[in-house]
Amino acid sequence: MNLLIIRLIIFAVLFWAGLKLYRMYREWQLERDPDQPKRIDDGQMVRCDYCRVHLPENDAVRQGDHWFCSPEHRDKYLEQKDLTS
Ligand SMILES: [Zn+2]
Repeated sequence: MNLLIIRLIIFAVLFWAGLKLYRMYREWQLERDPDQPKRIDDGQMVRCDYCRVHLPENDAVRQGDHWFCSPEHRDKYLEQKDLTS
């Protein structure tokens, strides 16, 4: 009876260690592959400086420190900036 419990514990420990190793391997694989987008970059939101709408960084247009939802809004923002300055 005792032997059965010990075997069960050993099996559980081996299963847990295998799972841990698998997760470590997956993380190592993600770090190694530069083409794989990192989880931190996912869902990074920026705000259009013209219409104040929030959108994913990947869909946004960048102009220096400013972000825009479209090239049209970038141009309009720059036009307004030129008029005020
Ligand atoms: Zn906009």
